Amino acid sequence: MQGARVYAAPLSTRRIVVTGGAGFLGSHLYERLISRGHEVLCVDYFYTGSKANVVHLLGNPNFEILRHDVTIPLYVEADEIYNLACPASPIHYTTDPVQTTKTSVHGAINMLGLAKRLKARILQASTSEVYGNPEQHPQSEGYWGHVNPIGPRACYDEGKRCAETLFFDYHRQHQLRIKVARIFNTYGPRMHPDDGRVVSNFVVQALQGKDITIYGDGSQARSFCYVDDLIDGLILLMETPDDVTGPMNIGNEHELNVRDLAALVIELTGSKSEIKLHPLPLDDPTHRRPDITLAREQLGWEPTVDLRAGLGRTIDYFDRLLREVPHG
Ligand code: NAD
Ligand code: UDP
Repeated sequence: MQGARVYAAPLSTRRIVVTGGAGFLGSHLYERLISRGHEVLCVDYFYTGSKANVVHLLGNPNFEILRHDVTIPLYVEADEIYNLACPASPIHYTTDPVQTTKTSVHGAINMLGLAKRLKARILQASTSEVYGNPEQHPQSEGYWGHVNPIGPRACYDEGKRCAETLFFDYHRQHQLRIKVARIFNTYGPRMHPDDGRVVSNFVVQALQGKDITIYGDGSQARSFCYVDDLIDGLILLMETPDDVTGPMNIGNEHELNVRDLAALVIELTGSKSEIKLHPLPLDDPTHRRPDITLAREQLGWEPTVDLRAGLGRTIDYFDRLLREVPHG
């Protein structure tokens, strides 16, 4: 057959849409999906994501990219949809809060509509932020949360909560096959150096010998999950039987406060950086740790990369990046 491009595809090959595919998590996800023989359409409009995260795959016949804003309906063909489109860093999602809510809510409606037409499975990248500043610790999926509906983080928290509502309404009303993952703070290579999240900030600051910017007194705590573990969890959740819908916490149970994180980053980088305290942003949660009993039971999943190892890989990544592209 001259002229026709033919390549053998494994029988289990699926066509998978990843919205937000040019972002931090999306880029790891589609790489893993392609390595498993699937065809991926990355849908992104490069708000916080970067073309640098996708450029190495542009020649791959199993990879396509579409510049598209998910607040606008999308008509493509697919077997599965991972809905990741949404800025995830507080400095980004609070910059244009109206667009953040639109992305979560209109984006969910459009992607659920697409999944309904295609009878496709759809996974929502929800967040531990649905628990707000939690009064239950650790947070299990049955906890309804403690969210300020009118604060600066509400565009993200309430947008994601409404997206969860839409997922479950489409499931009940239209029998859609849904999966809702509540992702806890995730870090690793390919975070943007200006992303604003604590791990990338501290690592970049330490490598550059700049002050480490702790917000508040640093007593607030988070539980950090390495990106490879998180991606395993998302794919396992997508592949569960139809009666497994979530919401399901995906995160690492190891909790530490921001001050201890700063000390660890300084130790691992051998940096001479000093700590500088800045005001704590409004509604910044005081602590956050997932109860992952459900993921253990239903996915057989738990994190395997400890914080020192994951930070080591992240530091190596930023060290290389900052040498290649010197950064302000
Ligand atoms: P990211 O900011 O690196 O990536 C988000 C991607 O979505 C970017 O490429 C951005 O350009 C794209 N995007 C934003 N709005 C869009 C729109 N309207 N249309 C099309 N594309 C759009 O963030 P991330 O860390 O990769 O997070 C991915 C998803 O996971 C987000 O939905 C986020 O809420 C969720 N999540 C992430 C974390 C984490 O720690 N990384 C924690 C909880 C939830
Ligand atoms: N934080 C900090 N310094 C920074 C960036 C963040 O002290 O340079 C704090 C922030 O106030 C929060 C925690 O680190 O308490 C995690 O922030 P991040 O933006 O990574 O994620 P969040 O869990 O708030 O969404």
